[in-house]
Amino acid sequence: MDRVSVQTNVLKANQEAARENRRLFEREGTVVINLMSAPGAGKTSLLEATIRGLRDRCHLAVIEGDLQTDLDAQRIRDLGVRSHQITTGTVCHLDARMVARALVEFSLRGVELLVIENVGNLICPASYDLGESLRVVICSVAEGAEKPKKYPVMFHKADVVVLNKTDLAIASRVDLRELEKNVREVNPKATVFALSCTTGEGLNAWFAWLRDAIASRSITAAAGT
Ligand code: MG
Ligand code: ZN
Repeated sequence: MDRVSVQTNVLKANQEAARENRRLFEREGTVVINLMSAPGAGKTSLLEATIRGLRDRCHLAVIEGDLQTDLDAQRIRDLGVRSHQITTGTVCHLDARMVARALVEFSLRGVELLVIENVGNLICPASYDLGESLRVVICSVAEGAEKPKKYPVMFHKADVVVLNKTDLAIASRVDLRELEKNVREVNPKATVFALSCTTGEGLNAWFAWLRDAIASRSITAAAGT
């Protein structure tokens, strides 16, 4: 088999596993976010801020994906939230089967929001559906305004784009409006949030959006039963 058909088969098998995951998530009434970004853009920091902002109002759980260590899962557990670490070894993305295996022991009963923090990488995670309800991509201003143009596939497929570290815009000499314009060029439909996990600026709008996503999911789930 040539390389292209091997890749096509891998993605097809992934699609089947993703469909199974999606059925499970819908059955449990869990909103699932696939959280993606380059390394260091602030995925785990946004998660920590989100847990602090929402833990009194909704039942959250987290799956972490990294090549090595369970440092991020530990950061989440330190905040009193259940988390499971997937270590991928040499694989630079999560796939649907890794998530399915994690879900064998990680019960979603009663979980309203599950965030899956993908491996830090702006390229191949975009090609692997995990069965998520929503794709959230973080771009930190410190990465420069051109990132969305250089990695269009990742940004094009996002439901939400979070522009993080707005407090570093001046120090990074990045024009936030230009960064947002570049996001819109690649993906006019994405919901965009500009925020800082350090200062807290912009976090409330993100929390409100998440609460709406959870509320509308519960309504759909109730209507389906
Ligand atoms: Mg992380
Ligand atoms: Zn990869």
